[in-house]
Amino acid sequence: MDVLVLGHADVARLLPMRACIDVMAGALSALAAGETILPLRQVLRLPDDKSAFAVMPAYLASPKAVGAKVITVFPDNHGTAFDSHQGAVLLFEAEHGRLVAVMDASSITAIRTAAVSGLATRLLARDGASRLAILGSGVQARTHLEAICAVRPIQHVRVWSRNAEAVRAFAERESRRHDVRVDPAANARDAVETADVVCTVTASREPVLAGEWLRDGAHVNAVGASLPSARELETGAVARGRLYVDRRESALNEAGDFLIPKQEGAVGDDHIVGELGELLLGRIPGRRAESEVTIFKSLGLAVEDVAAAAFIYERARSTGGGARVEM
Ligand code: NDP
Repeated sequence: MDVLVLGHADVARLLPMRACIDVMAGALSALAAGETILPLRQVLRLPDDKSAFAVMPAYLASPKAVGAKVITVFPDNHGTAFDSHQGAVLLFEAEHGRLVAVMDASSITAIRTAAVSGLATRLLARDGASRLAILGSGVQARTHLEAICAVRPIQHVRVWSRNAEAVRAFAERESRRHDVRVDPAANARDAVETADVVCTVTASREPVLAGEWLRDGAHVNAVGASLPSARELETGAVARGRLYVDRRESALNEAGDFLIPKQEGAVGDDHIVGELGELLLGRIPGRRAESEVTIFKSLGLAVEDVAAAAFIYERARSTGGGARVEM
């Protein structure tokens, strides 16, 4: 039996951002409807206490698929030739259990994470949101710019991270790529204060976003922190917004952005309004007023990777791409 092997370029071609946003909507609705099997991911913290190895399995009923993402997360790779997230998504068909594809996980992670934030923004941000702030200037910053521009009429982007040269290079490159104005900001506050949509996509374990910087009506996608001990949002920012998550169980176990304010007594479990999938199914309310601050806390779920892989596999079968390897 052969297995289809798809690399970075194949994934980027076969998983366009707009299509991926719809695929993520399908996967998160299925999750909320109870049509998936999704244990919490297993994360091995490596001895340097910075790097990790994670195994993320999931089953989806429609399209019927089972698989896992297996990745390393090496935050210090930023600025080197290596992506900070590397590995593979393994896709199996669910009738005989055959391994059908192995795909580059860096590109799937880069695209599907931004697509989920794009979905959250489509569901929660104000309609006319035109000013975007991005904290972070790495891989996720690039794909988030594309995703947010796909769902709102973004005209001005301000970007910040610690390395001013990296920020300047990002602004130059991305304004050309998207035909939108992208300016470097001198600090995080400068980037955020005028923004309608804020994406935090840094590898910081300490807060980079304060609540008082957010303007009324802002929507925040908090993406960078995915450990109980790490966070990008100050307690005040979390307390100020109505909080949505990709999955409640994951947020209660993995999200420092929520768990640290909870330990401090600033918020309780009822601060989580619900999951994006519940919002898609009409089970919970979305934005209730123009002035409300909404927050989407993203952790990243294996159902997103498996749904993306199933979509890529079907497209590769009909349009070509990748290499077939006899196992
Ligand atoms: P990169 O390594 O490409 O970029 C990391 C960015 O974080 C850089 O721009 C870096 O810029 C910035 N940064 C690092 N430390 C700090 C700090 N202390 N304060 C401010 N900025 C900082 O990583 P990715 O873009 O791939 O990922 C970004 C984050 O998102 C990571 O934490 C990653 O684990 C997380 N992630 C979350 C996913 C999810 O599903 N929720 C999925 C994938 C990734 P500079 O050095 O200039 O500060």
